Amino acid sequence: MYLDRFEWAVCEDGYEIEEIFPARKVGISTNLKPQIFIRQKSNKMKTYCPYQKIKNIHWKFGGLNETKQDVLSFISDYGLLGIGNIKTCEAYDEIISYKRLVEKLRNKINKDDLEQAAKIFNLSAGPNLTTQIDKISGKAIFQIYPVPRTLLSYIWLSFAAEITDGREWQKCFVCDETYPIGKHTGGTVRKKYCSDACKMKAYRQRKKS
Ligand SMILES: [Zn+2]
Repeated sequence: MYLDRFEWAVCEDGYEIEEIFPARKVGISTNLKPQIFIRQKSNKMKTYCPYQKIKNIHWKFGGLNETKQDVLSFISDYGLLGIGNIKTCEAYDEIISYKRLVEKLRNKINKDDLEQAAKIFNLSAGPNLTTQIDKISGKAIFQIYPVPRTLLSYIWLSFAAEITDGREWQKCFVCDETYPIGKHTGGTVRKKYCSDACKMKAYRQRKKS
């Protein structure tokens, strides 16, 4: 599974809101609105794996309240989206415009309208990706798979995985292999093991202890 390969950085010292007022022109008195940015407080970064930290980050982002505080708290937990050229700050308005696109897609999936969801994805997503080649575990077969470059791309791909087969991924309690759950997979969140073999192994371990 490729989504679990993606790592992202979040500032250890947190983020802050910065309002920048455009320069006033002499003699013109207009009500100038400030531009709002969310900026990281320092360059002390730590990386994390969004897939391990939170399963439904894409749903969370699409459901954010459009307030500076809610956006700041999301960014503080998971980092900036990776939009734009400057790595250390992002414009609030731009974050909100992506949030609205993601929300539109989320609403279609929520209503099980996968055709419209796919349309929105194709029109709006354009995820920024790279590729990696990896050996399929236990087999002498290699596979190429996409890996997101930014948090926003990771969010888009998480939706793509849901659209293509209603899949979510879970890690086996015994062998750490990931396996799909959700629609058309025969598994739900309650499924704890990748296979009957692992299920038996866990059962034997429980009996021993
Ligand atoms: Zn297993």
